[in-house]
Amino acid sequence: MEQSPQNESEQLSLILSLMAEGLLVVHSAGAMGLVNQSAGVLIRTAPDELVGELFSEHFSFVFDDGSGQTEKLPVREAIEQDTIIRIRMTDNWYLKRKDGTRIPIGMTVTPFTSKEQRYAIVVLRDITQEKEVDRAKTEFVSLASHQLKTPLSAINWFSEMLLSGDAGHIWKKQREYIEEISSGAERMTRLVNELLNVSRLELGTFIVEPEETDLREIAADVLRELAPKIHEKGHNIEEVYPGDLQKVAVDTTLTRIVFQNLLSNAVKYTPPKGTVRVSIQPEPPDMVVRISDSGMGIPLEQQEKIFTKFYRADNAIESEQEGTGLGLYILKAIMEETNGDISFTSREGKGTTFTVRIPLAGMPQKKGTRKLN
Ligand code: ADP
Repeated sequence: MEQSPQNESEQLSLILSLMAEGLLVVHSAGAMGLVNQSAGVLIRTAPDELVGELFSEHFSFVFDDGSGQTEKLPVREAIEQDTIIRIRMTDNWYLKRKDGTRIPIGMTVTPFTSKEQRYAIVVLRDITQEKEVDRAKTEFVSLASHQLKTPLSAINWFSEMLLSGDAGHIWKKQREYIEEISSGAERMTRLVNELLNVSRLELGTFIVEPEETDLREIAADVLRELAPKIHEKGHNIEEVYPGDLQKVAVDTTLTRIVFQNLLSNAVKYTPPKGTVRVSIQPEPPDMVVRISDSGMGIPLEQQEKIFTKFYRADNAIESEQEGTGLGLYILKAIMEETNGDISFTSREGKGTTFTVRIPLAGMPQKKGTRKLN
């Protein structure tokens, strides 16, 4: 159907006023041009009152992951860097209103040029509901895992008692069966603990309590724990540390989780008689931990997914090694939260090296409500 220009522009303004997302056009100097109805609703101000005003005067944004908030200037950033800025639910951005209230926000800021003037189109969405649903899901996982812990420890406890002969003599076949029950329950306990850690990570920030630590001691501790497995596989362990390694301020619980996961993976994914190597050395501004193995490696085309929740590479699944695919996801979150970094290089069939960087300045202290274990 033919439209007259008059009708077209009327239709466009009707669409803009009806759309659920807030939409604004902001000039590079900061003044708002177009402001639709929903954008006004977000800050409880009529759109007419906003046109011509400075965007940053009325719309302020903060990033807040639970450990303190940082002011954000997305429009300026988009225009200056000439890039589209996309803020998603997991990015933890909030729109702060003048009365101090705030709402979680999803947003896209797209810079563009018209008649040699620079502008940005801002599309804003209130994501309060999505956040609540996501939180409810995570809380459910947390609650369910908690509930599973008690019956699991009963299974663990009673199978231990049966195995130690507390209820009388047990025959060979019976011992075999009880050992199966016991190792099944242990695997389940590990899974439940990892699920709990994941939900703690996703529900907010966890506690980081740095204390001066000799990382060699944590490595030695974890290697001691893994000794039976290492012995069984006949692995050669190499430890490379400078004699005078300086201490770093790290949270020992979190650091143990990192060493524990990486070393047990190295042992798990390396065939018998292979080599596992741990090196720790300062490379300013970081203390660098490298854990290498001569194992099965990670197929190149699957490497980009390796830190994804529940992801396991095909060769790991085929080799029938048990695992949850949660360990590396947890480590990535830990390293990001503590200003560190984790990366790897790997060649299928040759081996893998994971590199962990911890700032020599130490992990920043973080107050939180949850401790990982
Ligand atoms: P999982 O419980 O499966 O070990 P992780 O999150 O620790 O879970 O690791 C995810 C996947 O990364 C593993 O399933 C495996 O495919 C791969 N991976 C991790 N470490 C190694 C390694 N040292 N050698 C080969 N593959 C590894």
